[in-house]
This record gives sequence, structure tokens and C-alpha cells, in this order.
Amino acid sequence: MAETLRHLRFPLPASHGRRYPEPPHPYRNDFQRDRDRVVHARAFRRLENKTQVFAPGLSDHFRNRLTHTIEVAQVGRTVAAALEIDEDLTEALALGHDIGHPPFAHAGEAELDRQMRRFGDHFDHNRHALRIVEQFEQRYAMFPGLNLTFEAREGLVKHSKDLVPGEDPQLAEYLPGLRPPVEAQLIDLSDEIAYNTADLDDAHGAGIVPLEEIRSRHQHFGELFETTEMRFPGAAERVKFHQTLRELFDFLVSGLIEGTAVAAREAKLRNHEDVRSHDVRVAGFSPAAEAANRSLKEFLHAQVYSSEALLAARKRSGQMVAALFQHYLEHPGHMPAPHRAKLDSEPAHRVICDYIAGMTDPFLERTYWKHVD
Ligand code: MG
Repeated sequence: MAETLRHLRFPLPASHGRRYPEPPHPYRNDFQRDRDRVVHARAFRRLENKTQVFAPGLSDHFRNRLTHTIEVAQVGRTVAAALEIDEDLTEALALGHDIGHPPFAHAGEAELDRQMRRFGDHFDHNRHALRIVEQFEQRYAMFPGLNLTFEAREGLVKHSKDLVPGEDPQLAEYLPGLRPPVEAQLIDLSDEIAYNTADLDDAHGAGIVPLEEIRSRHQHFGELFETTEMRFPGAAERVKFHQTLRELFDFLVSGLIEGTAVAAREAKLRNHEDVRSHDVRVAGFSPAAEAANRSLKEFLHAQVYSSEALLAARKRSGQMVAALFQHYLEHPGHMPAPHRAKLDSEPAHRVICDYIAGMTDPFLERTYWKHVD
């Protein structure tokens, strides 16, 4: 049995709790309830109709943002279980990590941010996730939002990076300058493993990158593929691709478990408080997995994300978001009543941004055709 991080597990009794105190549940602990609240949120269900990287149409098998989220949760739980840290907190954070994503993947996010900067503001999907779970979800009679624990909200805010003190006064309560619990730190890298391997799979499936290209340009994949060929010479090429991709996936997950355990040992971290006050995040890959992950990223940037097919789709998505944003600036009355009502207390660009960010891809398309074209 490999070494565990049981001593660094975030202890539930140390939780800063919920904004609105609630009585305990008879058989679900607070992090389990956080997980369940995320799964039952409307914003969670909308992930099914939000693009991850490849828009539906070319294939029925591409990941969308919901299936991607399930893959991240699966990696996160595996890693948390192997390290004997809190699986429930990890799972809640993994399931919520993309809940604030706008339509049209990164093209949508970049365009919303560009629009907001015209008004000296900005858009960030982690900040938006916080607004969803604190305000926009209206499911409980006793409080606005989902009333998640502090650690779940902190994990959403610090999903991809830590907060610098003074960076954002509105986020001052989320312990700027301190690291989040190890459970939260693992989400970002679980996310990377899930999307890098999935994007390679989807790009190969879509015919954007031929197998030969992957074999020759990604050293670790190439080596694993050679072994696969020796072991299963008669297997179909497609099966050999998947066999190899699975092994690469396993290598990265194992590397994350090992790298995190080694870093914790070397830093002599004793408990969850040491995790917080340590000067860098303890979650990380082993050197070999780090190299394989980095070269996979570089490969995807060079061969997939900048491919003609994706660039064209991204450009069109950005134009649609920009046009719809402009339309609502000129005709704020075209937004539905609950959004119009917010115009009394918030600037129009913020109300419009929140409305568009919540849309699914097909809803944005329909709305665009209705109002703009
Ligand atoms: Mg993600």
C-alpha cells in the first residue's frame, strides 16, 4: 500500500460551516449534502447543453460539460480514496467545478470577459460559480442559493488559482494568501487529466489528429503504444488507441497520487492547517507525469485547439455572444422579467452578463436568431 495523506484530510468538525446555520441531517454529513445540492442545482443540469471543447454535430460521442464533470469527479474520488482524504468534499468540488461556465466553452468565456471590460468589469467562471451557488439558485425557502459550506465555496473560488491578499475585496472572506484544503487542490489537476485525455480522444475520434501524429509527437503515448502493439498485435487500431489512452490516463492519475504524497512528505506537513499555511500547493504530479501532462497540453494546443474546425466554431460563438450582449444593452426590456427586475439595483452590463452566462449553447443560439438575426 502506497503512503496516504490521512493526516492531511480536512476534518469536517473544523469546517467554517454554512452562511445560514442548519440543523444536521440524520445520515448525511455536511460535505455529502454539499455534493447533493450541487447535483440537484439547475445550473448543474445545464452543463449537459454546454460545449466542453467540441460542439455536438460532428459526433454523438463528444464530451459535453456534464460528462466532462463526471469524469473529473471520477478522477477526484479515485485520488482522494487512494490518499485517504475526504472523498465527499472532493466529489462535491469536482461536480461543481465548472458550474459557472458560460455557453460555448472558452470562446464564450473570453467574449463575455471582453464585453465586461468595456465597462471596467470582468467575467470569470469561478466568480460566476460563486454567484450561482450564493444567489441565483432559488430552491430553499430559508435562504438564497444553496448555502454550501465555506470549504465548498472556497474550493470553487480557488478552483484554478489561489487568492492574493487584496486582489478582490469581495472575496476577502475566502482566506486570501492561504492554500485551500488538499481536497480542493486536487480538483484542478484532476480536471487537467480528465480534459487532456478526453480532448485527445475526441480529437482522434473526430479525425482532427491521426494516430501517427500522436504517436510521433507525444513521446510517452508513442512508447505506450509500442508496448500495446507488442502485447496485442492482432487488435484493431482503434482498440489499440483506446488501450494506450487508458494507460496514459492511469499513468497521470498515479503520478498525481504519488507526486502529492511525496510533496507532502518532503514539506513535512503534519495536518490540514499546515496544508493551508504552506507557501505553495502540495497537490502535484510526479516529475514523469508532469512531463507527460505538459507535452500532452502542448500537443493539444498545437494540433487540436488551433485547428481550422475549432477556430471557425470559436469565432462564430464569440460573434454571437457579442451580438446578443449588444442587443440587450440596446433593448434591456427584451430580457425575461426576473432579469429585468435586477436592473433597478445592478448595472445593465452585469445583469446582461449574468443572464447570458447562464444560457446553454442551444438556448443562446435560439435567442440569437430571435433577437439579432
Ligand atoms: Mg473542467
